[in-house]
Amino acid sequence: MLKVEDLNVTVEGKDILKGVNLEVGRKEFHVIMGPNGSGKSTLALTIAGHPKYTVKNGKIYFEGEDITALSPNERAKRGIFLAFQHPEEVEGVKIVEFLQTVLNKVKGVDLAEAYEMIMEKLKDVWFREDMLARYINVGFSGGERKRFEILQALLLEPKLLILDEPDSGVDIDSLSVISKKIEELYEKGTSVLLITHYGRILQHLDPSILRVHIVKDGKIVMSGGAELIGEIEERGFQKIFEECGCDE
Ligand code: ADP
Ligand code: MG
Ligand code: MG
Repeated sequence: MLKVEDLNVTVEGKDILKGVNLEVGRKEFHVIMGPNGSGKSTLALTIAGHPKYTVKNGKIYFEGEDITALSPNERAKRGIFLAFQHPEEVEGVKIVEFLQTVLNKVKGVDLAEAYEMIMEKLKDVWFREDMLARYINVGFSGGERKRFEILQALLLEPKLLILDEPDSGVDIDSLSVISKKIEELYEKGTSVLLITHYGRILQHLDPSILRVHIVKDGKIVMSGGAELIGEIEERGFQKIFEECGCDE
C-alpha cells in the first residue's frame, strides 16, 4: 500500500532523512522507534506531504501511485491521515467547523451529514458536546489534544493511519482510550504506522502482528518483530546500536 523508496529529505537545508526504505502493506501494523532527533517525525510529515520537508531523492508510492509531489490534501483524499506529535492551536477555528470542513474536503460528506457523524463519534474520545464550540487545541490538555487527533482519524477512517507519538504527554485514561481506538481502526482494516517511545500503547494487540523498525540518524537500521520493543525498553537504544555495529 505504502512504499517509501530511498527517501532523502532536508529541512531548512539540513539533511535529515538519509535513505529510508519502508513498505507498509494492507492491514499491516508497523511501529517506528528511535532516539529523539533521529527523524521519525520528519518521516511522518514527509509521507503526509508537509511543505517544510523537501524530498531531495527517493519516492513515496501509495497504492502504486507516485505521491511524492502531491499536496497534503490530495494525499488525505487518497486515504492517508497523520495524527501529529504536537497538535497546534488554531485560534478562531471551532472544532466542529474544522471537522465538517475536513470531512467535506477529504470525503465529500455534506455539512449536515458531517455534523451527525461528529456527534456520533464525539463520545468515543470522551468529548462532550460543548467541546465542539471550542477553538482547535486552545487550552486543551495533552490528553485532549491527542484524543482530538484520534477523533479525526475515527471520522476519516483512513486507509493508512500514521500516528506520531500519540502516547506522549497524555494521562493514563487518555492513553487507554487512544490505544483502544487505534486497535479498533486496525481491526476494521486500516494500516497503521505508529511512532512511539513505549510498548505500552500496544499492549492489547497481538504482538505477532507487529513489525518494528528502529530509526537512527535518518535511516532505518534494524527491523524485526515485537521482541525489539522489549529489548529497547530494557536496554535502551545506545546498547543496541553498539552491538549491531550501527554506530559506525
Ligand atoms: P524525531 O521525531 O525522531 O525526534 P525529528 O524528525 O523531529 O526527529 O527531527 C530530526 C532532526 O531534524 C532534528 O535534528 C530536528 O532538529 C530537525 N528538524 C526537524 N524539523 C525541523 C524543522 N521544522 N526545522 C528545523 N529543523 C528541524
Ligand atoms: Mg522527538
Ligand atoms: Mg518526533
